[in-house]
Amino acid sequence: MGKFRLLCVEGGEVLEGGFVLSCGTHRGLLRSIYSRRRLIPGAHPGVWRFIDWLPVEKPSSYACKPVTYRSEALADELGLTNLYIVFNGYWPEHGTRMETCTFKELESAVTVRYAQESGVERLVVASAGNTAKAFAAAATQERFPVVLLVPKKCLCGVFLPRYDRRYVKTVMITDGDYSDSIAIAKRLARIKGFTYEGGARNVARRDGLGTVLLDATLEIGRLPRHYFQAVGSGTGAIAAYEAALRLRRDGRFGGRLPKLHLAQNLPVAPMYSAWREGRREILPERDIPRAENVLDLIYARVLSNRYPPYGIAGGVYDALRATQGEMYGVKNSEAKRARALFARLEGVDILPAAGVAVAALLQAVERGSIRRHDITLLNITGGGSARLRKDKKLHRLKEDYTLSRHVADRELEELEL
Ligand SMILES: [Zn+2]
Repeated sequence: MGKFRLLCVEGGEVLEGGFVLSCGTHRGLLRSIYSRRRLIPGAHPGVWRFIDWLPVEKPSSYACKPVTYRSEALADELGLTNLYIVFNGYWPEHGTRMETCTFKELESAVTVRYAQESGVERLVVASAGNTAKAFAAAATQERFPVVLLVPKKCLCGVFLPRYDRRYVKTVMITDGDYSDSIAIAKRLARIKGFTYEGGARNVARRDGLGTVLLDATLEIGRLPRHYFQAVGSGTGAIAAYEAALRLRRDGRFGGRLPKLHLAQNLPVAPMYSAWREGRREILPERDIPRAENVLDLIYARVLSNRYPPYGIAGGVYDALRATQGEMYGVKNSEAKRARALFARLEGVDILPAAGVAVAALLQAVERGSIRRHDITLLNITGGGSARLRKDKKLHRLKEDYTLSRHVADRELEELEL
């Protein structure tokens, strides 16, 4: 067997690698299975120190990773003695310089490398903002062409230090939300013969994000008891669950999977709504608010996926069940307060989605869902953008094309990408 193979979670069959998003028969996720059972961090920089558990042969020039540390101020405030923070973003004083300020760059770095090694020539990626930023950075660094589809309401907040328009083409969707961008991305890839990146279905994305839990577990010395994260599509949460399965199999970090505590931003919280009622299915009329554009309703717009991979085999529902997890609904006002609290106590700014995760932690403490001495991991999925602005000039990601969500196939065909 090679370095890794892909297991169809639903049917149980095993495929050889390659840039594939499903087995072709079942709807469930594929999951990578690595031949190395033990996690031995290698000598490569950044995220590539975990290359044994990434679906690539060789590292790229990307050299960052998150940083895990034990909280003092926030932990004291909450009365917790073992609160760890895994910080994704720009915070040089704490040893991390992720210039897109989001954990999405872990997934984009690994996905672009995976695509290069799989012979993919160009990727089409849908995004609510952070993913676009991360793929623009990775595409620029690796000189690998990507096409990004981003709703207008999200694109206005996408700033980064540098990107190269020779490799990054941006299509702005004027009237749609994130789910519309996903639908158009799939059509565009089909019509143009490009490769659709796949979102949560892409194992490289998930294993890239899974390095957050690998980093934290090595730093702590064992698997945490609790894991907190804000979710839109839930890709990071599924990734954490899968990384935990590998760490449990490794045998040195404990035998219990971390309990997933996942938070959504009310009122766009389809997974929270379905989970609360014990359902595997998301019912649009019941779980998704009626609105012209859901992006107008929430503070953390990156969390706005209306059709997340929740019920499919190996998706968020299964990850919650396997870890006896919980879901949280966080109001805009709670997220804003939590974001300010974190900045005041921990000394660095965080993105709105990370504020949603902090608010969920506050709710859990309030409810008594976690005990004082439990090892608890808070995933700050993005932060340091105010800090970054002190060091670097930032540029907004500019659109090359503008489309409506009602775009015809012919218009997609005519785009010069
Ligand atoms: Zn299958």
